[in-house]
Amino acid sequence: MPGARSPVRAIEFVITCEHGGHRIPAPYRKFFRGADKLLASHRGYDRGALQMARDFARALGATLLHTTVSRLLVELNRSIGHRQGFSSRVPKALHAQLLRRYYEPYRRRLEARVAAAVRRGKRVVHLSCHSFTPRLAGVQRRADVGLLYDPRRRGERALCVAWQKLLARDGTLQARRNYPYRGSGDGLTTDLRKRFAGHDYTGVELEVNQKFPRAGSARWRRVRRTLIATFAAALDAATV
Ligand SMILES: [Zn+2]
Repeated sequence: MPGARSPVRAIEFVITCEHGGHRIPAPYRKFFRGADKLLASHRGYDRGALQMARDFARALGATLLHTTVSRLLVELNRSIGHRQGFSSRVPKALHAQLLRRYYEPYRRRLEARVAAAVRRGKRVVHLSCHSFTPRLAGVQRRADVGLLYDPRRRGERALCVAWQKLLARDGTLQARRNYPYRGSGDGLTTDLRKRFAGHDYTGVELEVNQKFPRAGSARWRRVRRTLIATFAAALDAATV
């Protein structure tokens, strides 16, 4: 029957990176004078996340949406009105302008992309690439990789359970689910889940420990390769 949903549907991958850089565009630089160290820290961006997102997009033949504007100027992984949406350095009077310039176009492009794929009968697997600092507020994080998802979404859960198992079998990276954050908290994938049903949209945030991009080339390259290989195998293993 034309238009009927077959049980096995083609997947369209969408890779995103909301914290890909720590750039402050010229009109806003005055608010970040003397803040170079802050911008280059884990509070300004996710070190290594964009490189990882690029590798995933290339390996999967996927669309990549990313920004290199610092999260301290405008936070793309929070919903509008969230208290962490803007740093205190940014005057309130500019919030609407920043949302219009950076936040809304990003969200619109991503949503349009997902909607178009769903209309074509595809199911979308969205991987939002992030990294986390090894120590936060004096506490050492006990994982190399975090897989964040909403446990109420069966497809996301199945994918992340399979992915974690394959990473455990590989043995080089310790992966935890919904760590160091919960995948169902405020954020981009949570917003998309409200717009798209579980059988059309699978949203996972991949969090990698920043000790890898810090350590530099060879090991970090191996980590990215392992993550991509196990992700692909997890998709085969799980009915997402
Ligand atoms: Zn992030």
